[in-house]
Amino acid sequence: MHDRLPKDRPPLVPRYRNQGYDRESVDLRRAWVAERSGANFDHVGRCSLDTETFRGNAENVIGTVQTPVGVAGPLQVCGEHANGVFYVPLATTEGALVRSYERGMVALTRAGGAEVRIWLDRNRITPVFTLPNVIAARDFARHAESEMPRWRDVAASTTQHGRLEGLTCVPAGREVYVDLEFHTADAHGMNMLSKAGDAICRALAAAVPDVVRWQILSGYSAEKRAAGSLLRGGKGKKVTAGCRIPERTVRAVLHSTPEDMAAMWHRTVVGHLASGAIGHNGHVANGLTALFLATGQDVANVANSSVAITQLEVVFDEDEGRQALWASVTLPSLSVATVGGGTGLGTSRECLGLLGCADGDPPGQGQAPKLAEIVAATVLAGELSMAAAIASGEFVEAHESYGRNRPGESDAVRTESDDAR
Ligand code: NAP
Repeated sequence: MHDRLPKDRPPLVPRYRNQGYDRESVDLRRAWVAERSGANFDHVGRCSLDTETFRGNAENVIGTVQTPVGVAGPLQVCGEHANGVFYVPLATTEGALVRSYERGMVALTRAGGAEVRIWLDRNRITPVFTLPNVIAARDFARHAESEMPRWRDVAASTTQHGRLEGLTCVPAGREVYVDLEFHTADAHGMNMLSKAGDAICRALAAAVPDVVRWQILSGYSAEKRAAGSLLRGGKGKKVTAGCRIPERTVRAVLHSTPEDMAAMWHRTVVGHLASGAIGHNGHVANGLTALFLATGQDVANVANSSVAITQLEVVFDEDEGRQALWASVTLPSLSVATVGGGTGLGTSRECLGLLGCADGDPPGQGQAPKLAEIVAATVLAGELSMAAAIASGEFVEAHESYGRNRPGESDAVRTESDDAR
C-alpha cells in the first residue's frame, strides 16, 4: 500500500497543443511511449485515417490497431428496412468465424431469406433520486410522472433528434429510480440522453425541494452489462429474425437434420440454467462483436446486446411434405447506430457503405433500423451454423481447419461452405 505518491512521479502522457490529434502530435506521443517502454509500434503507427477524426472517439492517441475484416454472404434479408442480398463485413481474429457465418447465410438465403422485424426502438437512462422518507418518495414519483409534457420539452431543448418517450418511477425504500426512455433516431444515444437526462434531473430537483440528492447513473438501465431486465427491451432496438429452413437445405448446407439440430438445442437448456445464463443463445456475441468492430459501434455494448434468445424447432413443411427447421433469434436490447460514436471513422463508414447504411445527410441518416435488421439476420446465420456444427459433430473439425494458428504450419484448409455454393 502506498500512502503517498513516490518522489519521482511517473510522467503523464503528453497531450500537446489542442489535445494533440494532428499527425505530428500522434507520432511524437508514440515515439515518447516507445522510448519509455522499448515497445515497437511499426504497425500501430501505420494509420491511413486522418487522426484528427479521432477527436471525440479516443484520447492520447498513438495510432490504430488493425483487425482482419472478412466478408460473409450472400445474406438475403426480408426486413422492413433492409430488403435484399447483403455481404456483411466481420472484423475478427477468430478463425472459422467468417466461414461459419457464411455457411449460415447461405442456408438462410437458400431458404428464402431471414424475416426480420423491429418491435421497439428505445434507449434509456435511469437516474436515482433520494428523498427524506418513503412518503416523500411516493409524492416525488407522482409529481415526476404527472409532468411528462414538461420533461419532454426539457429534453427537446438539449437535442434535435432525441425524443423522450416515457418516464417510469421505480421505488427502492426512500429512493426512486427515474427510468427515462428515449427514441434516439440513428444514434446509439448515450451522450445524447445523458445530456437530456441531466437537464430533466436538474428541473425535477428544482421542482421538488424535498430531494436530498440525485445522480445521473444508477445501474438500473443495464448499459454495457448483462441483466435480466434487458430481455424486456428498452435498451436499444428489440429485433427478431426467423426463417423456416427446408430439410434438404439443412442437409445440404448445414450437414444436419431439423430433428438433430432441435434436439441438440434442447439439450443446452439445462446447461444454460445451471450456469445462470441470462438469455439462451449459442454465440450471439461473436457476430455482434465482429460487426460492431467493422462498423464503428461501441464494442462494450455487446454486453447488453448479446442478452438474446435463440430458438430451434421442428415444424412440418407443407410445401415439401416433410419436416423443416424453424430457427429464430430475438435481440431485445441491441445497441446499433449509423450516426455518431465511431460510425463516422473512415473504416466504419466504408463497412457501413458495404451494407448500404452510409447514405443520407449526415451519412447514416435514417439507416439505423436497416443496420439493426441486417445485424439480426447475421446473428441468426451464426446461430444456425454453430448449432449445425455441434449437431453434426463437425464443430471441432471446423475449428481445426480454420481456427488454428500454429506458428510454422500453413494448412491447406478445406472449405466447409464450398459445397453449399
Ligand atoms: P454522439 O456522437 O455523442 O452524438 C450524435 C450526434 O449526432 C448528436 O449530437 C445528434 O444531434 C447528431 N445527429 C445528427 N443526425 C442524427 C440522426 N439522424 N440521428 C441521431 N442523431 C443525429 O453519439 P451518441 O449516440 O449520443 O453517443 C454515443 C457515444 O456515447 C458512443 O461513442 C459511446 O461510446 C458513448 N457513451 C457515452 C456514455 C455516456 O454516459 N455519456 C455512456 C456510454 C457510451 P442532436 O443530439 O442535437 O440531435
